[in-house]
Amino acid sequence: MGITLLADKSSVEIEWQDGATTSHRLDALRAACPCALCKGHNPAESLNLTPEDFPDIELLDVEVVGRYAYRFTWSDGHDKGIYEFEKLRNLAAQEGPAEASK
Ligand SMILES: [Zn+2]
Repeated sequence: MGITLLADKSSVEIEWQDGATTSHRLDALRAACPCALCKGHNPAESLNLTPEDFPDIELLDVEVVGRYAYRFTWSDGHDKGIYEFEKLRNLAAQEGPAEASK
């Protein structure tokens, strides 16, 4: 288990407990923030953020929440999103096939 900021500073790689790894673009992760401010309490309240909204986003800090999620602190000051591990893996599947699944 672990999360690594890649050298280009625009994506992270996550190694999971089962040995699989997924990589995630930071702009896509930021846009996918699951918190109530970004997503609202129902679809009508969602800000509908897209990766294009965050061209220069940087990841400042990562905190492990319990045994089930990461909380990211972003360079735009946002730190409310709790990204559940399962959700993160699903996000990677949407972005494209992860290395481990080939
Ligand atoms: Zn948010």
